[in-house]
Amino acid sequence: MEITETRISIVERPNSRLRAYASVTFDNSFVVRDIRIIEGKKGLFVAMPSKKLQKQCPRCGFKNPITYRFCGSCGSALNPLPPQRLPLSRQHRDVAHPINTQFREYLEKKILEEYEKVKNSSQK
Ligand SMILES: [Zn+2]
Repeated sequence: MEITETRISIVERPNSRLRAYASVTFDNSFVVRDIRIIEGKKGLFVAMPSKKLQKQCPRCGFKNPITYRFCGSCGSALNPLPPQRLPLSRQHRDVAHPINTQFREYLEKKILEEYEKVKNSSQK
């Protein structure tokens, strides 16, 4: 599978590690949006689009983030697990992501190259 287009929109938020959003087109036929470019401790990395996991309240059916201890709608006690005990990887789930290292590296390289290009041209 080939990446046929990469679009970058730079994010300028002073207190954020988020540097840009990317949308990537595969084989001229499938697009994935909301890929994030984040400034990490070891440099830039690419985060795939993800969603917060939710849990339905047994009493009223309201969907709460998985870390909530009380229902945001009716106040019933939910999961007693303290939020900080739950690793971040279990609070979010990737909506779309590469399933092998080779493609992940190819995707990251393409996105970061395009990001550098866009960033450099916007500084001139
Ligand atoms: Zn409820």
